[in-house]
Formats: sequence, C-alpha cells, structure tokens
Amino acid sequence: MLDLLADTVREHPDEVALTYFDGLLTFAELDELSDGLACHLVERGAAPGDRVAVYLQNVPQFAIAVLAGWKAGAIVVPLNPMYRTHELTKILGDSRPTAVISSEQGWHEVVGGVATALEIGIAVTTSELDLQTRDDQRLFAKSQRAPAEGCADLLAVARSYAGRRPPAVSPSASDIALLVYTSGTSGVPKGATNTHGNVVFNAEGTALRLDEDTPGGIFALAPLFHITGLVVQFAAALAAGRQLDLAYRFEPGVVLDALAEHAPAFMVGPSTAYMALMNHPEVSPEHFASLKMVHSGGAPLPSAVVEAFRERFGLYIRNGYGLTETTATATSVPLGKEAPVDAASGTLAVGVPTYNTVLRVVGEDGADLPVGEVGEIVIEGPMVVPAYWNKPEETAASIRDGRLHTGDVGFMDEQGWFYVVDRKKDMINASGFKVWPREVEDVLYGHPAVREAAVVGVPDAYRGETVKAFISLSHGSTATGEELVEHCKRQLAAYKYPRSVDILDELPKTATGKILRRQLRDTARAGEQHGRNEQ
Ligand code: ATP
Repeated sequence: MLDLLADTVREHPDEVALTYFDGLLTFAELDELSDGLACHLVERGAAPGDRVAVYLQNVPQFAIAVLAGWKAGAIVVPLNPMYRTHELTKILGDSRPTAVISSEQGWHEVVGGVATALEIGIAVTTSELDLQTRDDQRLFAKSQRAPAEGCADLLAVARSYAGRRPPAVSPSASDIALLVYTSGTSGVPKGATNTHGNVVFNAEGTALRLDEDTPGGIFALAPLFHITGLVVQFAAALAAGRQLDLAYRFEPGVVLDALAEHAPAFMVGPSTAYMALMNHPEVSPEHFASLKMVHSGGAPLPSAVVEAFRERFGLYIRNGYGLTETTATATSVPLGKEAPVDAASGTLAVGVPTYNTVLRVVGEDGADLPVGEVGEIVIEGPMVVPAYWNKPEETAASIRDGRLHTGDVGFMDEQGWFYVVDRKKDMINASGFKVWPREVEDVLYGHPAVREAAVVGVPDAYRGETVKAFISLSHGSTATGEELVEHCKRQLAAYKYPRSVDILDELPKTATGKILRRQLRDTARAGEQHGRNEQ
C-alpha cells in the first residue's frame, strides 16, 4: 500500500484525500502527517513486525495512524471503538501491540487501563474533534477531555517532525499489513492476518471497479476498523486517488447531511445502513443525488431493500460478498449487470467471483457439488489470508492449501451467479426440515411495515426447533406481530413460517451494523427456559 500511496501523492499532492465535516486533508498532508507519526513510533522503539493498535472512530487521525503504522513497518490492529475492557483485553492480549493509538475519551474510559495492565509502551492519543469544526457536530463535543497523561498527542507529534521521513521499509506481499479481529457474531474473535498482498489486491480491484469516467469521492458508510471500511473505502480511495468523506460514526441524520454537503459519487456500507437511511424521517432523493454507484457488503442484502431504494431514490444497490478472511470483497456484481433473484427462495445473488478468485460449493466430504446444490462456500484467491494469528487449530480447520472454508452455505446458478443461503451454524432444524433464517427474513422484509428482521430457532418439544422472528417497525407503522405471522404463513411452507414475531424498537447489532442473531437466539432461548421453569 505504501507504493500506491507514494504514487497517489506524487500524482495528486494537493487534491483532497479526506474530508471530515468542515475539515480536510490533502494527499500531501496525509503523507506528511503519517511520516511524522511514524518517526515518533520508530523513535519510541516500534520495530518492523510489531503491532500498532488503533482505537478510533471514522476520523482523519485513523488514516494517519494506519499509514504511520505501515511506514514504521508495523502490523496495524484496528479496534472497534465500542469495545470495552473485556473485549480489548482479549484482543490486545492476543495481538500484544508495542503501541496503541486511541481517542482521548477511549483512553480515559477503557484503553488506558488495558494498555497499562498489558505494559504497552507507546501511547498516542488524539481528540477526535481536532479536524472538525461544524457547529451542529457539537453533540460530539462532550467526548472532549484533557490530553491523557503519559500519552503523546497525535497531531502535535505528527506535526513536530515536519519534513522528516521515517527509515524506509519495504514490506513484501506476504508480510502482514493488518491484524483484523472478526466481529464475533459467531463467538470468539479471531485475528485474520491480512497481508500487504491481500490488501493491495482488493484495494486495486475496488479502485478499478470505480468507473473511470465518473469523477467523485467515496463516502465512508462503513467503519474504518472493519475490513470493508479499511480496504474497500480507505485503501481503495488511496489506490484510486479519490477523496474519502468521513463522518465520525454511522448516524443516519449526520450521514444524510454529509452526503448532501460532500456530494460523493460512491458509497459502500452494510445493508442495515441502507435500511436505516431509507427509514430516516427526513430522507429525500436529493440526499442521494450525487451518487453514481452504491455497494452493500458484509451482511445479507434483502432484494426488497434493493427494490425500495431503486423505487424511492433511483439508485441500484450492488451486492457483494466477503469476509474479514478474504480482505473484504470476494464477489461483486459486474458493471452493467444486475444481480438476479433466485425464484425459489427469493435470495438475491451476491455476484460473481472477483478477478482471479475461485468460489466452490462443496459437500460434507469436501467434493465439489453440482450447479444449484447447496453446500459450504470455499474461496481461493489472492485476497485470502494465510492464517489466523496465534491460532493454529482454527487455521487448520478453516484455511487449508490457500482455500478458505467460509462456514457459509450457498449455491451457484447456471449462469455462474453465487447465492449465500446462510451461515451453516444458523440453520434451524424444524421437525427434521432445514429452515434457513435468511429466507424467512427476506419474506419479512417484503412487508412494508418491517424495517429490520432476524429469524432464529428456539427449542420446541414437538418439532425439535421452531422458527421465531424479531423485527423492528418502519417509521410510523403500527403493524402487529400476528399480522406478520400471517404474512409469512401465506408465503412459506408450514414448517418455515415463524410461530411468533416479536417487535423490538431496535434489533441488537454489531458496531459494523450486522444484526446479532446469536444474541437474539440466546434471549429467545433464555425466555423459553424461563417460561418452562415457571410452569
Ligand atoms: P464472525 O466471523 O466472528 O462471526 P463476522 O460475521 O462479523 O464475525 P465478517 O468477516 O465481518 O465476520 O463477516 C463475514 C460474514 O458476513 C460472511 O461469512 C457472511 O456470512 C456474511 N456476509 C458477508 N457479505 C454477505 C452478503 N453479501 N450476503 C450475505 N451474507 C454476507
């Protein structure tokens, strides 16, 4: 990535690299500030191969920190800024960074304690407001605190080395660039070792897909600590020499304002972000007027959302599939095409494999399955990580001979389009029949009252498991759970429709916007257990 950055800085030094509300940084400024911070890290003892952890929201200092880490030859460990002591202790304890770069607020509240306990020697903090000036963003001002004791101030140190460059490093394609912990929707977080080769491949791939004839920036809808944010937004923007618009964190109203203000041409984020934007009471087609291409990735995209977005805003959302372990993108919808919907299940295709990438669908015995048959998706390509950090057993279980066994089940159609049916472990076994939650969720999304939906299996004395749904309602809707059960009953086989639909204000989500089915399943199961105990 450093070569790509150098090319971009040489070609467009004075063009805008990042915007943040009223603030901006050019590519030359980004380069110089990250040089300065890298000098500081190296002087304080960070060596090539060391880990540098970053705990920040979508602020320009995130970009400076990542580039500084790479310029010091280090492996960057992005941390979810919603993580607290328990999660940080696990991740920092596993990755053992030499340096941690945090927001001041985060340092005071949680990072400082963990970093001290783990004896992390280099600490840099920053006020996340430094490059932000617009008045209506003052709601974040409450997060401003005094600089943390014993910590260097990120922008002050970066500026103090003006004009100086850190000793040159030249990481090879197989050196690790990022250590990204999966968000843990399935349990214990595992660190994926995304190499420089992995990152460059997918960043350049995205940069090439951005239509050359369409000028304009990229709006960062996804968080930068997530692989999609880091690679499909940040690294791709660097590779393409495009402006990246940041807006602290996903907040629908703030995002809509920022879209109107910065007029980006491209946007990428999880499907739940599109659902939230679509449901904002003040949303209008003008908010999306500048956008030429919008991508959704990292979570299932219901076809009803694609259709609603097209109808209301004239925008086609392009689906894409990938994992942290595939450095984000593994499939995409080719330019000029639209993803088909599988007639039998209503599932929207996730696209076709990206360049030089192979997707297979395999059975229990590992052998390739014929077209149309559902099995586990196995991915092979230049963006598949070589291993998990410190986890030889998990690596051996999932990544063998460069092939990633994804734990997702899906199929390929006659035309070569891939469909992700669901996660293997989320299958519901109702009276011996397989029920894939996504199919039921797609039907729920087809009802105008449904804003978000999650379907889980709960234990049932007669059926083994039975189907239960949780939804949140669209703005202003007054539909009842019974109406939604009826809606599903009309469209699905008897063993598939949910026996109950609970309405919540908001479904629990990871910080990347994925609905936490596991949490809902645990809640539902605990509820069942509680009910039984009371009988
Ligand atoms: P963990 O692996 O710890 O559970 P996670 O699910 O958040 O965490 P990610 O690597 O962020 O880990 O997510 C990858 C998963 O997201 C895929 O395995 C797949 O289940 C799902 N996914 C990604 N893109 C799509 C898509 N377009 N359609 C359906 N599912 C998708």
